[in-house]
Amino acid sequence: MKPFLFGPMTFLVPALLFVVLLRSDTGRAMQAAGVPAVAMRWNTPRMADTADASSSHRTRTGGTVASPATTTAPLPNDPFAPVYVVTSRDTYQGIRGFASKAVEHRDSTGAPVLIAESRADRLGAISRYVHVNERRCGGYFAFPSRAQAEAFVREGRAKQAMTKTLLASYTLNNQTTVNRWLPQVQEQRLYATMNHLSSYQNRYFSSPHGKTSAEWIRDHWQSLAAGRSDVTTELFTACGNCSTQPSVILTIRGWDLPDEVVVLGAHLDSINVNTYPDPNQHAPGADDDASGIATLTETLRIALADGWQPRRTVKFMGYAAEEVGLRGSHAIAQSFRRSGVNVVSVLQVDMTNYKAGAVTDMKLISDYSNTDLKNFFITLFDTYLAPMGLTRSSTACGYACSDHASWTNAGYPAAMMFEAGDPGGSFPYIHTSYDTLATMGESAQHSVKFTQFALAYLGETAKTRGKVTGGPAQELPAQ
Ligand SMILES: [Zn+2]
Repeated sequence: MKPFLFGPMTFLVPALLFVVLLRSDTGRAMQAAGVPAVAMRWNTPRMADTADASSSHRTRTGGTVASPATTTAPLPNDPFAPVYVVTSRDTYQGIRGFASKAVEHRDSTGAPVLIAESRADRLGAISRYVHVNERRCGGYFAFPSRAQAEAFVREGRAKQAMTKTLLASYTLNNQTTVNRWLPQVQEQRLYATMNHLSSYQNRYFSSPHGKTSAEWIRDHWQSLAAGRSDVTTELFTACGNCSTQPSVILTIRGWDLPDEVVVLGAHLDSINVNTYPDPNQHAPGADDDASGIATLTETLRIALADGWQPRRTVKFMGYAAEEVGLRGSHAIAQSFRRSGVNVVSVLQVDMTNYKAGAVTDMKLISDYSNTDLKNFFITLFDTYLAPMGLTRSSTACGYACSDHASWTNAGYPAAMMFEAGDPGGSFPYIHTSYDTLATMGESAQHSVKFTQFALAYLGETAKTRGKVTGGPAQELPAQ
């Protein structure tokens, strides 16, 4: 039995489902796909889409910010609006009840991908299918038009991003900083962040809670950077289909190599696929992905409390609208590509707090990632975490499983560390009202390890201004 199939709305469904079936073939399609019937559509009042799709707001000092151009028209917050999904052939076989008019293309790696037409109110069913049948999240990119989906596939740079050999930037020579940071991770701070974020009714991308929770992250990160003129925070709103939810970006300016950018990211939105797209759906998303935001927040806190200044520019990112097709990260990655931003590495943390049973501590995601960066992740783990008794494994995640795929498609080197889950493979309460700290033993202990990994990644990719010791001298000459 999977408890996530029994959300609070399940028992109200029969009557509602009748209404749904009058308006949609979704219910039939779900039954055909073997997915238990749940309410798939609400008579949701349309919410004003107030997102400013043309600018990016900076809320601290630090100079002007180029406003990335918007290439997608705003997607109306309409449950019947068409949505074009880009997904794998295998996933399409399972979701074809919710999407049609599929056309096969080849992505830059030569792999077949399908562009199919769906509808805004069917994305929850697609996500549910991916979770229940493939036991993972994500599974597709989403676009408001077929032309945009085709351009995404045609212009994709995944092959380059996965295989290119990077500059000699992945070195281990900053143990002084990293070893000082590792013992400073506080489990109760991780818990507090997860507890706060999961206390919102949801962080769904088009609900008012989705906006206010993102603004809280911005405010919290900003408070950690108080007094630092080299740190800026902004709400990234140049996403044409993120509704009212902004992404959050905190930037620490690099002192020696400011044009080389290191990214640490997690998605800030949540979803309950049983009651999607109700703006009042209960979607605490404690593991998915408040745990990732908490991991980034604690990493940031420790680095800033240490007075740390990086050689490279660092950007901490909370992505909007991941659960509905990686929209926030896609908008940012494409914007950076258009602007020629030189992102040298991206760490994705999406679900870091669930572990049950005898499994390893972390799984390196093996697909849609850069080979050099994956190898560097292994080196980081074996250098800093294995001596503490931690263990690792790896797993494939599938097409478009989290925001690293947005960076990969944009041509940037990205990789992801994922929670070990349980012997069954994954957190059973993902995308339900049961994704809470309570179902994770009221503990944030597993996220402590990911924060330590993120600190090692941060210290060894961005380096420490004027304090690096050892390693190849030609890579980062001493000041
Ligand atoms: Zn997630």
